[in-house]
Amino acid sequence: MKADSIRLPFRTPVTARARGFASAAKRLVACALPSQCALCGNLSQALLCDGCDAQYWNEPRLRCATCALPLAASAMRREREDLRVHCAACLEAPPAFNDTLALADYRAPLDTLAVELKFRARLAAGEAFARHLHARFEDSDLPAPDVIVPMPLSRERLIARGYNQAWAIARPLARMMRVPAHASMIARVRHTSAQSRLDRETRRRNVASAFAVSRDVRGTHVGVVDDVMTSGATLDALARTLKLAGARRVSNFVALRTPKD
Ligand SMILES: [Zn+2]
Ligand SMILES: [Zn+2]
Repeated sequence: MKADSIRLPFRTPVTARARGFASAAKRLVACALPSQCALCGNLSQALLCDGCDAQYWNEPRLRCATCALPLAASAMRREREDLRVHCAACLEAPPAFNDTLALADYRAPLDTLAVELKFRARLAAGEAFARHLHARFEDSDLPAPDVIVPMPLSRERLIARGYNQAWAIARPLARMMRVPAHASMIARVRHTSAQSRLDRETRRRNVASAFAVSRDVRGTHVGVVDDVMTSGATLDALARTLKLAGARRVSNFVALRTPKD
């Protein structure tokens, strides 16, 4: 039984009427003040207008099955027993994660959506990313993960921003996939803000010890959700932590992928 149907008999008529009025008022405001498409500025009730929605989401791009790096058809390499395509870097030194699904490259105009989500709390962008990631997942041969987790923020950053943008994608995606989602299964145990000043090796060691897993993940397939994948080092470190904790498979679901390191 849903919580709403349990609470319903105890709701006073006054409260119910006030709620009804509030939702009617909300609908009225939504009709009276149509919002703008997040990309082109045309009037649109939805996050994107129909034109932008049709134009920008369907990027036909061959990507590495492991890291989602875009591949030129000529650079395509397959391992004999694996029908999926991989980039040379993943074949030579496979990362700790097994798969990555990405929607599009991190560039204009879709990068605007990631910025809106991350810095302006436009949570509808998270929902849109989730919807398209779900469609991408349905088209793939990837099995559904046992659990979905967002790339965690450090406590300091979570307090400063007030929300985790990866969770804004992970939660609706998990709902669409009918998979449980856990917002705090992974914790970021070290604040890693001064990364850019460190050399590559120190940075690697630093991120590797940056996560803690608070639930039993032995034998499970974990889906990790992030808004933007840049070098993949942080996702690699998180996957390594999950594998050390016994996870069987780690699949990344990222909205946008930076084409090169
Ligand atoms: Zn538009
Ligand atoms: Zn790759």
